[in-house]
Amino acid sequence: MSMFKSVIFALAALVASGAGAAELPQASAVPGGVAVVPLGAAGKVLEAHYADHRVLVTRSGNGWVAVVGIPLQTSIGAHELRVVRDGREERLSFQVAPKQYATQHLTLENKRMVNPYAKDMPRIIAEQRRARTVFTTWRDASPSQLRFAAPVDGRNSGTFGLRRFFNGEPRKPHSGMDIAAPTGTPVRAPVPGRVTETGDYFFNGKTVFLDHGQGLVTMYCHLDSIDVQVGDEVDAGQIIATVGATGRVTGPHLHWTVSLNGTAVDPALFLLPAEMAAVAGEE
Ligand SMILES: [Zn+2]
Repeated sequence: MSMFKSVIFALAALVASGAGAAELPQASAVPGGVAVVPLGAAGKVLEAHYADHRVLVTRSGNGWVAVVGIPLQTSIGAHELRVVRDGREERLSFQVAPKQYATQHLTLENKRMVNPYAKDMPRIIAEQRRARTVFTTWRDASPSQLRFAAPVDGRNSGTFGLRRFFNGEPRKPHSGMDIAAPTGTPVRAPVPGRVTETGDYFFNGKTVFLDHGQGLVTMYCHLDSIDVQVGDEVDAGQIIATVGATGRVTGPHLHWTVSLNGTAVDPALFLLPAEMAAVAGEE
């Protein structure tokens, strides 16, 4: 290869691995994972929809990709993405592969957190509705990053997707990542966002929701204190709260949910590689 050609080759490699590509979440097209679906280079107005929800679309290299959250309870096999390009509709298909998640048994002394009283139900249902609204609200603003630092320094004490039993009774699978840390440890926004909801929830305890744009929403639960208010715009690294043990917990930790197109997905797929090693611990 001539010097000229090898310089061109090196430049091309740089462009191919350039800004956009490096910032995508780790692709893992499994239930609870993230599919990265190439949309090609053409088209000015691009919109993608999956299962009735609008999907995050971003630049990658010279083209566009859809970054699709896949529900934990989804079927294996071919799934369809509806793409609107310059006013015309296309259908793109992507494959979802199987994944087995481990089982976790937890013991709670507060039995009301396993089987709430009848009088707790209106509150629980209202909180689920509010969370649903926050997770499914679309904002056109694009997230500034799709790879981030962990929101708290600590040990991964519960991975996403664990099939859970509380006091021997089956409950919903684990919808986020647990990071164990002492009460009072600062929780930092991993990526800039807008505070769209805070509250003291029955199961989730004191909770903050951040909307990062294009359907990327993160949630921070079991907090001791909340240091932000609805409407605040927060920067990456800004302290938003402290770790606590409020709600349904066995000890102080942060429960961190990452949601795309209204679907909770594995937060580990969004961590920078160095961060992944830092929180890698027991399951
Ligand atoms: Zn959790």
